[in-house]
Amino acid sequence: MSRRRQIYEGKAKILYEGPEPGTLIQYFKDDATAFNAQKKGTINGKGVINNRISEYVFTRLSHIGIPTHFIRRLNMREQLVRQVEIIPIEVVIRNVAAGSISKRLGIPEGEPLPHTLIEYYYKDDALGDPMVAEEHIACFGWASNEEMQDISSMAIRVNDFMVGMFAAINIRLVDFKLEFGRIWDGDYSRVILADEISPDGCRLWDMITGEKLDKDRFRRDLGGEEEAYQEVARRLGLLENDGGPSEVFDLTKHRKLRGK
Ligand code: 5GP
Repeated sequence: MSRRRQIYEGKAKILYEGPEPGTLIQYFKDDATAFNAQKKGTINGKGVINNRISEYVFTRLSHIGIPTHFIRRLNMREQLVRQVEIIPIEVVIRNVAAGSISKRLGIPEGEPLPHTLIEYYYKDDALGDPMVAEEHIACFGWASNEEMQDISSMAIRVNDFMVGMFAAINIRLVDFKLEFGRIWDGDYSRVILADEISPDGCRLWDMITGEKLDKDRFRRDLGGEEEAYQEVARRLGLLENDGGPSEVFDLTKHRKLRGK
């Protein structure tokens, strides 16, 4: 039996050639990295949960008219997606100060921003994904002005939708990262949402306790990352209710209940 061709291996995912031209299989790993891969580890079961969460979010976004690369989930760790030409920009949307903006500008973590901010980072591991302005993106031709218009308006729509979706399950969407890609139809291209949306690339805080339910648990050595990711999936209705605590997430209690 021939092995399928691997197209790309990233920090958290592998892309394989898909069954039809123009498709890829996106495989979700349990590997976790932080600080430009200086910190490495694994979060047990993360790939399975992120595959489900990303399927759910992308499906809901497609229902409000956001074009995405997602086609369908294939199994626990894989989904079929459209092949895109990745635009080398990470789009970060912030509602509340945290992480790098707090560090860079001295804004206390948790302070709501006067309005939603969109930032752009150039995807380049060797350079540590530096922040760039729209002028740099145009100047170096990473995306056209028209594409940037589409990207920023989609980013705002995704944010509006996700803020509401998470608020409904008592989670504050602090910030998150999106990636976009181009698909070609003859000489014409259009931009669609690509990559994944999961607790790996979002800051998600419990609305009541402020407990972090995202990759910051790994980045900051807080522990309980498996339970946190599961809790997000559970609140989204993607896991069977296991009789654990529901409304207010208490990690210590949760771990005790699970005998950890
Ligand atoms: P910050 O700039 O504060 O480090 O990150 C802002 C948001 O974007 C956070 O939700 C973070 O998870 C996400 N983010 C930024 N860069 C990356 C990245 O390279 N990988 C992942 N998974 N998320 C990122």
